[in-house]
Amino acid sequence: MKTLIRTSLFALLLTSLFFTATVQRGGAVARDSVSTGHTSVQYDDPYAEFRNASYSNAGLLNERDEIKLGAQLHREVTKKYNLTDVGLARVDRLGQRCVRASLRSNLAYKFHVIESREINGFSIPGGHIYITTALIKMANDDELGSVLCHEVGHVVARHSLKTLKKSREYDDIANSLGALTGVAGSVARDLGVALGKMGGALMVTIHTRDEEREADFLGVRAMPGAGMNPDGMVTMFQKLLRIEESHSDPLGSLFSDHPDAQERIDNTRYEIGKMKRR
Ligand SMILES: [Zn+2]
Repeated sequence: MKTLIRTSLFALLLTSLFFTATVQRGGAVARDSVSTGHTSVQYDDPYAEFRNASYSNAGLLNERDEIKLGAQLHREVTKKYNLTDVGLARVDRLGQRCVRASLRSNLAYKFHVIESREINGFSIPGGHIYITTALIKMANDDELGSVLCHEVGHVVARHSLKTLKKSREYDDIANSLGALTGVAGSVARDLGVALGKMGGALMVTIHTRDEEREADFLGVRAMPGAGMNPDGMVTMFQKLLRIEESHSDPLGSLFSDHPDAQERIDNTRYEIGKMKRR
């Protein structure tokens, strides 16, 4: 319950962040001209701020500590959810293709399947990526691949590490990780306490709308290199939109914390058009 309250407060915060960002984006962003027959329509490039981004652990946890943190958080995830082998081979095969086409292919990613009726996917530091059985069932390979490439995008851009850095417990967590040599002992207990205070594994899976847009961008850009049709991202969003409109509620944070589905569809189409014109 506590987590729920925390999440809705965070959602409010995200909403206000989103509107602020929109106002700021109105003016000086680069514009791209797209010709549509007789008229030339101007679109704001939804991904302008990500095009020249470079990614590293600089200023964040170093990669070794990130991997240790990932192992710790993964244990927490396994206590909360039932992992299954159902669909795992397919998820891993597609996921590793996203990894190889990504801007962070040197990390050893681990894909996991969660037994759940909720349609969801998330990632934690160190390259652990989780997809639910309900999502796997509703998606073809390109659609499932789009979610996996999106999640790999979060890992590439170190979004969870950036969230962690903003938490009050960051220094305690960083110090414990630096001193941590095994899963037992007083350092591991201190780390567990600090992570618990922060809100645990799920806290680092909450992203801002800008981070979601960045993961969409990195995901769709990786898809052709992963041997996937990027249109799969569009049809995935369309399926999610239809489910949302049908007022059933199996959608998890994959969707509810994310920018509008229609906006994501438009942005993805924009990027696919841009890739094709290359
Ligand atoms: Zn996401």
